[in-house]
Order: sequence, then structure tokens, then C-alpha cells
Amino acid sequence: MDSNEKSKAKQLKEKLFVKKGVGIKKLSAEEIAKADEFCKGYVDYIDHAKVEREAVETSVKIAEENGFVKYDNTKTYKAGDRVYCVNRNKNIMLTVFGKKSVAEGVRFAIAHIDSPRLDLKPNPLYEANDLAMLKTHYYGGIKKYQWTAIPLALHGTVAFKDGSCINVKIGEVETDPCFCVTDLLPHLAQEQTSKPMNKVFTGEDMNVLIGSRPFSNDEESELVKLNILNILFEKYGILEEDFLSAELTLVPAFNAKDIGFDRSMIGAYGHDDKVCSYPALMAAINAESPEYTAITLLVDKEETGSDGNTGMKSTFMENFICEIADAQGVKAYTALNNSKCLSADVNAAYDPTYASAYEANNSSYINNGVVITKYTGSGGKYGTSDASAEYMAEIRSMLQRENVLWQTGELGKVDGGGGGTIAKYVANLNVDVVD
Ligand code: MN
Repeated sequence: MDSNEKSKAKQLKEKLFVKKGVGIKKLSAEEIAKADEFCKGYVDYIDHAKVEREAVETSVKIAEENGFVKYDNTKTYKAGDRVYCVNRNKNIMLTVFGKKSVAEGVRFAIAHIDSPRLDLKPNPLYEANDLAMLKTHYYGGIKKYQWTAIPLALHGTVAFKDGSCINVKIGEVETDPCFCVTDLLPHLAQEQTSKPMNKVFTGEDMNVLIGSRPFSNDEESELVKLNILNILFEKYGILEEDFLSAELTLVPAFNAKDIGFDRSMIGAYGHDDKVCSYPALMAAINAESPEYTAITLLVDKEETGSDGNTGMKSTFMENFICEIADAQGVKAYTALNNSKCLSADVNAAYDPTYASAYEANNSSYINNGVVITKYTGSGGKYGTSDASAEYMAEIRSMLQRENVLWQTGELGKVDGGGGGTIAKYVANLNVDVVD
């Protein structure tokens, strides 16, 4: 074989094969520095958005600093106007009105702002063997062992009978106390370590240690619990019954950190899905005069199936579309029928240590750009919105045109697990959606 023939094959390969694994290598140092700069804003956001209420509050602050005002349904809006609406403090929508009528559809970027965690039960506080503890009910899909013996912070809201509320955030500053779920010392863990992982810690084992000192040396019972309640009352005015109308939750007390000697990665709690909600928020912030009306919707409750009035199954977004369509003399369904959406959620980057969980040809890889996932779901594409070939073509052509670093990725190997996103709930409104 002479060298000419080889180069012919090489040429043909270049023409016909999918180009894979070029990724970050084709970026300039300036482009990488720009990405690192963008991530500084992300790190700040994720540290201030550990629970959905904080994500909403932080997003509102950023939006207002960038010219967004509260939506008012008695006003008429023109191209370039920037508004936001908040739903029950847990869900936010930012809109930049486009030059075209909403009859031609809107462009959605949708992500979620809730993350797995340990929620307090309605009657959480108890004392056992001179320890004060809190009962929890985990929220979303967690690997329970990851939540033991690490510092936890308490976040949330307590609503009082008079209608007032207080926000709670304990464990995030250096001088704050933290809390923890206990684990068994290695010396006594012979039985524990021989159990399968899903039996090592049960849901009812996820009890949080919050105190050990009695109120006084009286003869009364439950003096450690009393001491805790006394502290809570003096500091926040909380009675035990106020836990009944509270949303208090435990999250890891550590903030985002650079990972690696090269500082090329970020380790943090709640990447899923703040790593998508922050860019979606920034997309709205940076949209100045879009052709189509641009909407960023950040929802709650994805981790528990999107049910409820602040989840993706809520009519919050639909109602808003009805209002802005009405205002333009357009049918809401016409606006939705012509709309397109990027549903932004995380995929799993290939990890060589757990190679058997992935299928190498259809996995996403670090440093190869944003992942476009045609379908999610599990067990034979169950529970997914499978984006159409036509929409996929439109998206890949757009990404190429705009010089975006991107790749495709399926979530793990077939029948290896999988999971859904909010894409299907948007698709059910007859909108073109891809993850
Ligand atoms: Mn997610």
C-alpha cells in the first residue's frame, strides 16, 4: 500500500466519520479563560442556591440587577422588555419579549432548582439516651451512605400561625454550628459492612444529631430536647408545634471547591441542576433583543417527579403563556404549538472507574461540551419525550453554526438505570423539546 492510498482513506474518514474527542483541544487559551470566568459566577450562585427558595431569591437579585422587573398582567409589553414572575417563592420565570409575535412561538430554556436532600419530618424533634435528634424524610434520589458523618447545614423557612415567616440558614458560616447523621464506628461495623448497600442505612436511620446537653439538673424528663427548644425559642421564637408549618432541610455544609491540581473541575452540592439553571438564567440575562420571545423557567420538584404547584406539571407556565398570548390577540395553543424548548438537565460523564455502567459509543465525556440527549427515560425508552429527528437536525445545525462545543450522550447503558427529566411535561404541551 503506498502513502497516497492511505491519505485517501484518511480523507474519506475525515469526510464520513463523526468527529469525536476533539473537545477542549480546539479551544484557545482565551476561550478557556472566558469559560473559567463564567464559572466564577456559577460558583457564587450554587453556594447561594442550595434550596429552591434560595435559588429563586438569588435569581431575582441577579435579574433585578440586570433590568428585569416584576411582571404585571395589566401592562402591555413590547420587544426587548424584561420581566420575571415568581411562583410561591420556589419557582421563577424570566421573559424577554421578542420582536416577533408569540403566534410564532416562544423559545424556552427550562431547568430545575431543587436538589436531593434530607427534609425534616413534621414532628422531627425527639430525645433518645440523652441525645437530641431530628427525624428526616429524604427528598429525591440519594445514596444514603453519602449523607452520614458529614457536616450538614439547616436551611428553610418556618411559617407561623400569624402568617409571618422566618428564613433559617444555620451551618454555612465559619462560626455556625453544623449537624450530622451518625454512622457506626469501623470497630463495631462487622454486621453493617456485610449488608447490601441499600440495607446499610434505611430511611429511618437518617436521624440528625443536634444536641447533647440537658437544660438543667432538674428531675424532669427530656431535658436535652428542652434545652434545644429553649435555644430555638430564644433565637427564633419557634415552638415545637411550629415545625408543623415549616420546610426545613439538611444539605451538605460545604461550599463549592475547585477540583484537581489544574483546577479544571468544580466540586459542589447541587450541580444537578444548578449547573443548568445558572446558564439558563444567564441566557435570559444576556438576551437583549431576541427575535422570538425568550423564556427561562426554573422549576421546583423535579427530584420528586415534578408534581405539585411549583413543579413542571403545574400550569404556572401555561397560564403565563395564556396571558401574554391574550395580550397579543393570539391563541395560547398557537403560541405553544410553535414553541421550541431546551430542557436543561445533567447527563453522566463517562467515568473509567465505573466503565461498566456506561456504553462508550453513546456516553458523554468531560471537556467535550454540552450534551444533547435525544431521549432519556429507562427500560425501553419508558417515560421520555424522544426529540424528533427534525428537531435534532435543527439543534445540531444551530450548535454548529454558533460554534458551540457539544456532544451527544445517553444516560448510561441500556437497562442500567436511567431517569427522566422535565422535557416530557413540556413536550406534552405540544412544544418541540430536547434535553
Ligand atoms: Mn436533574
